[in-house]
Amino acid sequence: MIETSAKLTSQDFMEKEEHFGAHNYHPLPVVLERGEGVFLWDVEGKRYYDFLSAYSAVNQGHCHPKILKAMLLQAQKLTLTSRAFFNNKLGVYEEYITKIFGYDKILPMNSGAEAVETALKLCRKWGYLKKGVKDGKGKIIVCSNNFHGRTITIISMSTDPDAYSNYGPYTPGFVVIPYNNIDAFAKEINQPNVIGFLVEPIQGEAGVMVPDDNYLKTAYELCKKNNVLFIADEVQTGLARTGKMLACDHIGIRPDMVILGKALSGGFYPVSAVLADNDIMLTIKPGEHGSTFGGNPLAACIAIASLEVIINEKLAENAEKMGKIFREGIGKIPTNMIETVRGKGLLNAIIIKPKNGKEAWDVCLAMKENGLIAKPTHQHIIRFAPPLVINEEQINEAVGIIKKSILSFK
Ligand code: PLP
Repeated sequence: MIETSAKLTSQDFMEKEEHFGAHNYHPLPVVLERGEGVFLWDVEGKRYYDFLSAYSAVNQGHCHPKILKAMLLQAQKLTLTSRAFFNNKLGVYEEYITKIFGYDKILPMNSGAEAVETALKLCRKWGYLKKGVKDGKGKIIVCSNNFHGRTITIISMSTDPDAYSNYGPYTPGFVVIPYNNIDAFAKEINQPNVIGFLVEPIQGEAGVMVPDDNYLKTAYELCKKNNVLFIADEVQTGLARTGKMLACDHIGIRPDMVILGKALSGGFYPVSAVLADNDIMLTIKPGEHGSTFGGNPLAACIAIASLEVIINEKLAENAEKMGKIFREGIGKIPTNMIETVRGKGLLNAIIIKPKNGKEAWDVCLAMKENGLIAKPTHQHIIRFAPPLVINEEQINEAVGIIKKSILSFK
């Protein structure tokens, strides 16, 4: 085993990543070594509030003991068999998750992007085999400023040049409309060959864009009217993050397909899923889609434990309550450097108005010095998404750190 000696400093570790790793990320200069609940510690032993939660993968808090126990128990017994054979965990997990969300079936995958790809494939199969659209002609409506992952097909529908530039040729079959604009949606939905609408109920990566109350509901009704599949990408918004099990629950709609990832694993291991009813799910037959790791017994046990923690610890209710306290607290900071605070539950963001050349990145550096880590998304937005196990005392202390950091810019 390679010795990662305790003598190495943060600087040493950062230099290694810079030198030996691809430069596809620009991390905040902090080197983390340990996590527990809402806290992370760096290699020098300094403690931080984690206000990113690995982009909402760690909703249950770092190294949750119940998920850890489930993982360790199963890892000692059986980890991976492939789907060439049955295993004694997958069916149990499938029954559990489909009953929680009220769908006939689940298709298990690993990363969020893979689950999105799976939903797109299911949508196309359904469009051709069930709706009667000619093979190769199906169109899926997506929204500007979307973020659904990083594969070639997914970036083909991105409107962010950083995500798509110089990766062509792109996958055809997507129609991009502005987010939260029901008129634009209404114009496209009844066009020939439209088979699906893929949407984030709140756009996370775009900077926590919360659409108008009636937007998704109207879009959903128009989908029903036009026999178009409503596909909710809940990879970031799902699993209690916004104060409900799914963000779509806020408006009482039942998507034709739900895409889950991130916190389905509590941060232990990549686990993702697509949920749908038989009419859609059974359009894919044996051999037509799959993944070596998808649905393995280790993942199944981790996912069951992750869901149990969310439900048993009432994390949705806590997210709703703590989110309100957070937004109120931020709103009271006497500064003109925060233009807006917005969000739902514990998925929130502030927009920073630069002051004397100091931007969101500088605010993040100041917060880091004061013991809270978060990351800008785009130039002027900072997303705040702590683990959902955070309590009132902790959220107030965290707001205090954000306040102190913001007010340090004269
Ligand atoms: N969909 C949404 C809404 C996301 O926010 C993300 C990641 O941030 C993804 C899909 C992709 O997930 P992954 O990074 O696990 O592929």
